[in-house]
Amino acid sequence: MMMAQEQPTLSRRRALSLLTLSAAAVALPSPLRASAFPGIFTPDAALQELIAGNRRFVEGRPVGPNRSMARIRDVAAAQSPFAAVLSCADSRVPVEIVFDQGFGDLFVCRAAGNIVTPEIIGSMEFGTRVLGAKLLVVLGHTGCGAVKAAIAGDAVPGQISTLFRHIQPAVERTPTREMEAVARENVRVQAGLLRDASPVIAGLVRERKLQVVGGVYDLSTGRVTMLPA
Ligand SMILES: [Zn+2]
Repeated sequence: MMMAQEQPTLSRRRALSLLTLSAAAVALPSPLRASAFPGIFTPDAALQELIAGNRRFVEGRPVGPNRSMARIRDVAAAQSPFAAVLSCADSRVPVEIVFDQGFGDLFVCRAAGNIVTPEIIGSMEFGTRVLGAKLLVVLGHTGCGAVKAAIAGDAVPGQISTLFRHIQPAVERTPTREMEAVARENVRVQAGLLRDASPVIAGLVRERKLQVVGGVYDLSTGRVTMLPA
């Protein structure tokens, strides 16, 4: 009797999910429309587009793609960002601008010192596993106040010092304690955490559906330098 009751329920569920899927197939923007530029379906293509976008920005010829009202309407129903970025909260590192991208292109998490916390891991799992971002960039920058403060280790107001323990491993791995060297090491440490601490992200990397890379944004030149893993 239980089975008899369950069977139609399952069938209805399956029918509903099939309906939802076919509705989604019609309603969702095509991958071509959801990307800033056609063909961003691999981690390498995503990386090349970010490098190219930063070059356009630095050379003063940004396209400013996907910033029209039509694009906003296109991505209102669903998003499929081609890359995810964890950057510092610094006001001088506006991620979409420095990579010359627009609405629906980048899934961005920001925290002072571009640190990885459980909430950031959860967000990045969502951006990659659920939304399908092909590239995950940890973006540090020159002149980072969070890095500077973590090296100094001085007393700070409120909960600011909670940031320091996340940056401390990079400080310890940098014998010179030189600020820019620590900032670069911090990018490597945080990228390593994202790669290793999340089985979801590690799985996507193993399947070659995702690449995790680090980069450093130069506050004075606007240029992003990708770091070797
Ligand atoms: Zn910073």
